[in-house]
Amino acid sequence: MRIKLDRTLCDGFGVCAKHAPRYFSLDDWGYAVLVGDGDIPEADRDAVLRALMDCPVHAIMEYSERRPDDPPPPRGDLADPDPAEHLKVDSNEAEWGFTR
Ligand code: SF4
Repeated sequence: MRIKLDRTLCDGFGVCAKHAPRYFSLDDWGYAVLVGDGDIPEADRDAVLRALMDCPVHAIMEYSERRPDDPPPPRGDLADPDPAEHLKVDSNEAEWGFTR
């Protein structure tokens, strides 16, 4: 996991430093400072993810793990060769359920 902190968004609530004190400290005015280079080991992922999700102003962001040379992720809508097969119509009502 790789994160960055946008200090221009930080409002100094201090939630991140509470959840993941190894990666966030607060400056003299209470604003967050990222400790380290943003690389988070798997063992600390949960604590940092909690800090990320609890930040009230979304100042903590996770970098994508994708690299430019990676193949594009599969798209669910294109993976299905014929989505019309799954339409809910009268003829296949027994398959999709009768819930009245
Ligand atoms: S939780 Fe968000 S707003 Fe609060 S100190 Fe950390 S980065 Fe700033």
